[in-house]
Amino acid sequence: MQILNKNKLKAALNKLAETADVFVPAARGENSGFYSWKTFDQEKDELMLEALNVYLPPKNVLFPQTERMYSFQEEGSGVVIKESFEDSSPTVIFGARACDVAAIDCFDDVFLTRGYEDTFYKSRRDNTTIIANACYQPGPNCFCASMGVNPTDPATADIIIRDTGEDYVWEARTEKGTALTQKIADLLENKEVKIPELQAFSKNVEYDGVAAKLKGMFEHPIWDKLSEACQTCGICTYVCPSCYCFDIQVKSFGEEGYRFRCYDSCMYREYSQMAGGHNPREDAKERFRNRFLHKLEFFQERYGKPLCVGCGRCIVACPAGISITEIIKEIKEA
Ligand code: SF4
Ligand code: SF4
Repeated sequence: MQILNKNKLKAALNKLAETADVFVPAARGENSGFYSWKTFDQEKDELMLEALNVYLPPKNVLFPQTERMYSFQEEGSGVVIKESFEDSSPTVIFGARACDVAAIDCFDDVFLTRGYEDTFYKSRRDNTTIIANACYQPGPNCFCASMGVNPTDPATADIIIRDTGEDYVWEARTEKGTALTQKIADLLENKEVKIPELQAFSKNVEYDGVAAKLKGMFEHPIWDKLSEACQTCGICTYVCPSCYCFDIQVKSFGEEGYRFRCYDSCMYREYSQMAGGHNPREDAKERFRNRFLHKLEFFQERYGKPLCVGCGRCIVACPAGISITEIIKEIKEA
């Protein structure tokens, strides 16, 4: 098998960064997330390839928090589009965990299927190679296996690395992965090493049957109880690797300007505010219910899987201590 000794990891990242923007999990100040290796401060930043999980997922790489879409100019009585800003620069996500890879699969479903292609997402996705870091020791808030994710074998990754202690087993899975592997071929060795065994999850939840059960629970009083503590701060949607709601806004300067999109959150009142003032999700309970119905019922009905990949980030981040696994359990018991 091919292995990358950990002593050669930085050399491999430097090599990959010669031809692509490489995003790595890292701690930076009080934050952690996926940051460009080009901006990595060797003194202050800390690589977090062993962490489960970094605070922010890699969704910003394929779906930036703010993204300029196109510029326009008024001409006579009309408007012309001057430039479209699809980003096709080569990119690598290095060390994504299986849950985050599964979340990217959800993004692919939303932005690339059902006869609709989001060209901004597609351009980034086509030019991104994903190197997944297999998990063998689930963290205290991980429950990906309960949500149908295989932590040791994320099927759609281009390359899988497996941490054996001193080395990473390096396994190219796709043409993109093979092409990238060739760039660091001189740093890889052939050696037989023992692959770790997957340890038991401390957090488990029974999701089977939840989507079907939720169909009849729209008016159920359980939503009053479940949403009681929610402050509608939206941090759960911000840290979630599979939340993709966005808003499109315009910035104009006289006769020209540009449109951009930015993250939005279904937990905010303005998200569902309509022209004329009506809001179908005026109350926190209605917004809370919508979030969990979308995650656990609607997405399952449309794409055949839940929109939760069990990363546990929202459980860690929620200031009100709300846990999606507890919500699933309460729904099962209701
Ligand atoms: S993080 Fe918690 S309090 Fe904030 S919107 Fe989400 S569920 Fe509500
Ligand atoms: S809902 Fe929570 S546990 Fe599920 S994928 Fe999103 S952040 Fe992770």
